Amino acid sequence: MNNGNKKAAFKRKRKKMPEQDPVLRSKNFNEVNLGYTPELAREEAQRCLQCGKPLCIEGCPVNVDIPGFVKLIQEENYCEAAWKIKETNALPAICGRVCPQENQCEGACVLGKRFEPIAIGHLERFCADYERHTGSCKIPKKLPPNGKKIAILGCGPAGLTVASDLVKLGYEIEIFEAFHKGGGVLAYGIPEFRLPKSIVDQEINYLESQGVKIKYNMVMGKILSIEDLWEMGYDAIFIAIGAGLPRFLGIPGENLNGIVTANEYLTRVNLMKAYDFPTYKTPFIAGNKITVIGGGNVAMDSARTALRLGADNVTIVYRRAMEQLPARIEEVHHAEEEGVIFKLLTNPTRFIGDDEGNVEKIEVIQMKLGEKDSSGRASPIPIEGSEFQIDTDLVIIAIGNNANPLLTSTYPELKLNKWGNIETDDCGRTNIKGIYAGGDIVTGAATVISAMGAGRKAAEAIHHDLTQ
Ligand code: FAD
Ligand code: SF4
Repeated sequence: MNNGNKKAAFKRKRKKMPEQDPVLRSKNFNEVNLGYTPELAREEAQRCLQCGKPLCIEGCPVNVDIPGFVKLIQEENYCEAAWKIKETNALPAICGRVCPQENQCEGACVLGKRFEPIAIGHLERFCADYERHTGSCKIPKKLPPNGKKIAILGCGPAGLTVASDLVKLGYEIEIFEAFHKGGGVLAYGIPEFRLPKSIVDQEINYLESQGVKIKYNMVMGKILSIEDLWEMGYDAIFIAIGAGLPRFLGIPGENLNGIVTANEYLTRVNLMKAYDFPTYKTPFIAGNKITVIGGGNVAMDSARTALRLGADNVTIVYRRAMEQLPARIEEVHHAEEEGVIFKLLTNPTRFIGDDEGNVEKIEVIQMKLGEKDSSGRASPIPIEGSEFQIDTDLVIIAIGNNANPLLTSTYPELKLNKWGNIETDDCGRTNIKGIYAGGDIVTGAATVISAMGAGRKAAEAIHHDLTQ
């Protein structure tokens, strides 16, 4: 790009994603972001400098050729742009919607130093949606069957990526999933208004059309053991069971009625369709004054879901300040617009119940920020004597998840770290020959794209080891 064009690119403002009106959307489950039109996508793409050394590629955990696909948008080759992304990212419609781009590709974009970075996530979503809506999906080449069978435990982004990569290479793939539906957190955690389930279903249907078999309601470790899988003749096993064990605060009153984990709350609503009660038989957990404890995506999703289910007042209680909220910036912004109240630098100390054992208040303490801790964030310090109470009739705890030991406890030979996550090398190999692992069960709760990146590396390792 010559200097004149660069100056013009600098002057152009980042194109805003059209979205539903906050008042309307806080009462429905339809998607908040409406997507770029081709015109908006082209105008946004024109801002890209096509850097000689594009830092954005390094910022992307699966190294999508960002300048490459953005250039194809500039040239109005939208399907080719989608195919370019799919060379390294199998689920662009999902990643374009949920990746924390501000910490990844967009965080590295040189324009972001003085101006706003290219809206890489919005453009990625646009290409994937365009390809889907125009029915131009390219069917990748599939090698003939090679006679080898792979068992994948868990049907989230890590498991789906391994299935997608290995089925193309001629492997017979069977996924064993505990729930009655696939997608992992994409299906039971992230709500419809952020990620329409039809997109996740379509990806799963596509894999099934490629020959991947999914066995549902298979809680591995209970129904089948690792030894059973070896006896069934699998050549390799990939464990991708996520980190689904919710953490608790460990403070007095936590077992009162009306205190639930975000896992339970979101699973009921998203997977069990509680929002459509009584058409579906899952009653949702009601409340009018709802308090959500935590500051990540899970907390934002719970708070915004509660608003949509009719709560009058939804408050997020978080022990650090706004700048340290770990949730995606866009989700925080959307939550604020929709009317979620943020009580920052505040931490619960105990829950107070009524005579019937129902929660009615939370005692919280004011916090201040101190030195940086091991996570690199300023550590929250309680301010003595600053306790006060918040009225509440439902509390949702969203302070993170740990590895669920249900499967790993049945196979003590597998090496775990002190938090119960499976230890692997950089390519997903565990200490047991033939067993691989990836995603949140290895890293602890992380991101969709990091789980997919781990799946990709493990698929390469499995293929390498089985063809040596
Ligand atoms: P999972 O998605 O957890 O999938 C694991 C699968 O294994 C599940 O289907 C589970 O049912 C199954 N399973 C578990 N145990 C067994 C067993 N014993 N036998 C058989 N199957 C089993 N990340 C982002 O990048 N952006 C976001 O905006 C974002 N928002 C999030 C919102 C919520 C509410 C949550 C909970 C997480 C969010 N994340 C987000 C994190 C992201 O979704 C996860 O990091 C990612 O899904 C991990 O993928 P995975 O494949 O390792 O595990
Ligand atoms: Fe385009 Fe930004 Fe990547 Fe440079 S860093 S190629 S401007 S998206």
